[in-house]
Amino acid sequence: MRKVLCGAGIFLFLFLGIWSVAVQAAAVPSIQLWINGNKVRPEVPPQLLNSRTLVPVYTVQEGMGMKVDWDAKARKVTVTDGSKKVELTIGSKTARVNGTAKKLDVAPVIIGNRTFLPFRAVGELLGVEVGWEDKTKSVIVNAPVRFQVNGQAVSAKVYRQNDSYFVTARQIAPAIGYTITQQSGKAVFSKGEDSKILSSDTYKIIDNELAVPLSFVEELTGGSGAWNQGKTVYTLNKLITPPPPKKPEVIKVTDIQQTDDIITIRTDKKAQTKDFTMSGPPRIVVDVQNAKLAVVTPSIAGQEKHPAVQEVRYSQFDPETVRVVVVLAGSAKYNLVQKTSGIELQLKDIAYPQPPAPAPPITEPPAPAPPITEPPVMTPGDSTSAQPNPVPSPGPLSLKEKVKVVVDAGHGGKDMGAIGNNAREKDLTLAISQRLADNLRADAKFDAILTRDSELDRQLTERGVKQELSEKVKIANDNGADLFISIHINSSTSAAGKGTETYYYSEKSKEYAATVHKYLVQATGFGDRKMKTANFYVIKNTKMPAILIEIGFISNPTEAREMMKEEFQQRVADAVYAGIKEYVEKN
Ligand SMILES: [Zn+2]
Repeated sequence: MRKVLCGAGIFLFLFLGIWSVAVQAAAVPSIQLWINGNKVRPEVPPQLLNSRTLVPVYTVQEGMGMKVDWDAKARKVTVTDGSKKVELTIGSKTARVNGTAKKLDVAPVIIGNRTFLPFRAVGELLGVEVGWEDKTKSVIVNAPVRFQVNGQAVSAKVYRQNDSYFVTARQIAPAIGYTITQQSGKAVFSKGEDSKILSSDTYKIIDNELAVPLSFVEELTGGSGAWNQGKTVYTLNKLITPPPPKKPEVIKVTDIQQTDDIITIRTDKKAQTKDFTMSGPPRIVVDVQNAKLAVVTPSIAGQEKHPAVQEVRYSQFDPETVRVVVVLAGSAKYNLVQKTSGIELQLKDIAYPQPPAPAPPITEPPAPAPPITEPPVMTPGDSTSAQPNPVPSPGPLSLKEKVKVVVDAGHGGKDMGAIGNNAREKDLTLAISQRLADNLRADAKFDAILTRDSELDRQLTERGVKQELSEKVKIANDNGADLFISIHINSSTSAAGKGTETYYYSEKSKEYAATVHKYLVQATGFGDRKMKTANFYVIKNTKMPAILIEIGFISNPTEAREMMKEEFQQRVADAVYAGIKEYVEKN
């Protein structure tokens, strides 16, 4: 076939007789020429010369909208494209681009009254994109396209055929986060688990490079590209999987402080907050976003509050929010000021009830918050008022050879009691109960029975059951105990809830309660929440004088930390022992 074509070509240009026989060019009609997306059929088709494909310069210029001048005398073609001027002289390997000499591999030749150049040189000189698709024997020439992905320039080449654009995959794939593998007859685009396959009839190989349809790239990214008006810049903006937004760093709330009318929420880094007010009582709520409560020693516990502030509470409101609640004694407006060390809540326009002129008698401040989890169980249907225990009291304790004390470590088994500040109530009550029992056993006057030890607790926990209150009562009653004490740790919704309290049920337990409470409050130093009566199951149903002590608040970081210390536990055990001993000596 080739021979026949060559012969026809030679015949053709001999017939036209324009150029010398020294040029052995051959017209190759099967070569397609695409200019700016249009398939053009020049009067004189592309030529093959010394293995180079030559294209008629004028066709390219026309197709690209450039201006062409022909100086017959100087045998010179001048192509002007905006500010760019390219001068070609027939037979000369030197071209001039804006006056600067440029060496050519092949001198321009005239074939069929037209100037021909290898298409590569056309691309280089005129600054246009050129490519060769071997499969279809096509020369593709079009205006260069600047490709941008998410604002970043990508050095991909873009070729056009009709209204289809093909972009070189080697550059575009990494720009949109894909890797390419070429297998027989297909190209695979992969991104993690995701892969898309292109068959060979949908992509092109241009200049030995894989070029894929722009529509496919848009499909991969889920974005739609946009052209500028002159179709010289293509911008791809909306990627289907943009890089995941950086998760904001967790903020630690390290302290809550109060200085006069400023409440400071200390954070380890700059924090975002939401704030709002509530009424009844008036409260200012500040939610620190994406924050974890990491208060070790809250400064506010020991700080004087402004008279307009009744209480400042704080808690891990939800896994991502630390909530600070300022309960007002009166009314106030406020500003929230972001500082590097934290957030300042500055009260202003403060109005609160002024104390009367004569100093009022010193009274106990109101308890910060009512306990919520303590004590455990009320007997249904009973009032909380003290009632006489139906069982008659035994003889004087002071005359007894042995006083039998049942020490109940609150909760047990799967019943953990209150939990907070990395502590569990059932562990703290057991530790203190064991120390109290040891103290009593060391005294010849006493015998101590624990309702629970660590081995029983382990067994109950393993079985997934709690220690029933009825079991605790049964131990005391069946053993004919002289005294009963149930040891508990309090809890509150507010971290500020604090103090020590002692419960009793019947009047005959009141003195016992008072004596132990006196020692206990002194030992804890947590503040006196006083003695109270309640119909808790264990103090109501035990037949001997019985009390229930709430040593401190597990929800209060300071108290929880103290209660976890062995020396504190021993001090409390010593105090309760001293109280029991004094009570026994007087009765
Ligand atoms: Zn308890």
